[in-house]
Amino acid sequence: IMIDLIEETPYRWRIEPHDGMRVPGVVFASRHLLPDAPGDLALDQVASVAMLPGIVQASYAMPDVHWGYGFPIGGVAATDPAAGGVVSPGGVGFDISCGVRLLVADATREQLSAHFEALMDAADTLIPRGVGPGGVLRDCSEQVLQEILRTGSVYAVEHGYGQPGDLTFCEDHGAVADADPAQVSDRARERGRRQVGSIGSSNHFWELQIVDRVLDRDTAEAYGLAPDTVCVMIHCGSRGLGHQICTDQLRTMVEVMPGYGITVPDQQLACVPVDSEHGRRYLGAMAAAANYGRANRQLLTHATRLAFARAGLGDLRLLYDVSHNLAKMETHHLGGEPRELCIHRKGATRAFGPGDPDLPEALRPQGQPVLVPGSMGTASWVLAGVPNAPAFASACHGAGRVLSRHAVARRVKGTALRHDLAHAGITVRGASPRSLAEEAPMAYKDVDEVVEVCHRAGLARPVARLIPLGVIKG
Ligand code: 5GP
Ligand code: MN
Ligand code: MN
Repeated sequence: IMIDLIEETPYRWRIEPHDGMRVPGVVFASRHLLPDAPGDLALDQVASVAMLPGIVQASYAMPDVHWGYGFPIGGVAATDPAAGGVVSPGGVGFDISCGVRLLVADATREQLSAHFEALMDAADTLIPRGVGPGGVLRDCSEQVLQEILRTGSVYAVEHGYGQPGDLTFCEDHGAVADADPAQVSDRARERGRRQVGSIGSSNHFWELQIVDRVLDRDTAEAYGLAPDTVCVMIHCGSRGLGHQICTDQLRTMVEVMPGYGITVPDQQLACVPVDSEHGRRYLGAMAAAANYGRANRQLLTHATRLAFARAGLGDLRLLYDVSHNLAKMETHHLGGEPRELCIHRKGATRAFGPGDPDLPEALRPQGQPVLVPGSMGTASWVLAGVPNAPAFASACHGAGRVLSRHAVARRVKGTALRHDLAHAGITVRGASPRSLAEEAPMAYKDVDEVVEVCHRAGLARPVARLIPLGVIKG
């Protein structure tokens, strides 16, 4: 089936409600960025999400939208618990609380050049990665895991893996409230215990970047992102633990959903009312996984500081840490009335505007940093949240995939890619040739265009463009 799109403005498309859609679909994209069916069925998914019980306003898609499990990646949907609104694990994704943090180094570009190889060597040994076990916390006891599930980055910082100031610049101060470790299965614990503080594989990375261009001088100054500033971007999530929790919860939801009188157009959209026993169980388990994801990025921050110290390159400051796979209860205004809604952001970044009380005081005048990775061979971006943004204050989370892993691996050879990147001044450590090929820049949309559309559509404003110098991939 072809989805009919109405162009409302040059960067905003509407899918009129049809066939059980309770609200319209709204897609923020240039014509060029729209996903192409049948290869990419993301627009059908936008329409299906609009059928979920209790969804309000619209089923949204960000400019980096592409096909995902149930929800599209780049999808945003809010449900109203007071109107039977549901929570759907597919609206969060398997990698619960996957997200990005950006560290800003003291070191100058010249100092970095002088110590570059030493830093990459140090990071190569200190940043755990890959599919298997092994993390910054080598041996994580059941008791420690329990604390991490409850308190996320707070555990890490309190046990010496960070600086107290780090927590100020984490979404939720580093810990999601209401985590319920009792909902985390033995299998999930087992998988998680051996991976605390590791980036994992494929799309996840540790990346040394440099500010290449500043678009909003005042905000860049407030964020500490002058041209040539040295940064480290870390992208990872909750590893096997989050994946197992999502798997466990989906299995349960498919079973209990009919008991709540819910039918969905696609089993992948399995859901239960937010305000129900199973809704609370999911949110409690999800929060525990989110805390694991946050602790993960905090532990990797510690490892990064060790690598910089080992290379004689000084300290790093956390600019911000934000998830792009999460469901959160937030207050938003609907028709002038404040409502407590469950906001699903799946491959979408929360983007609170200036003045938001949830932002750290130092960032409040400018709005929240929105961290947008591009690819290991192209730019990445820092945007800022804007006032009165549509889509419940959300923006893109990356460039977004256009070619499947399989398709890109057929076209690109990993060894040649590593060589080409080196030629372009980008050192890549780790990753097998195959997994490197799967992550080739051509697998992704043009991040500069995605960011431009975010800007034009009023989702967020560009602050600084960063380019990669050294990448560690799993
Ligand atoms: P996701 O969370 O959907 O897996 O990935 C988010 C985004 O990260 C992707 O859409 C892609 O644009 C970006 N990305 C993937 N690999 C890399 C990398 O090695 N370096 C950078 N800077 N970005 C990447
Ligand atoms: Mn992830
Ligand atoms: Mn991610």
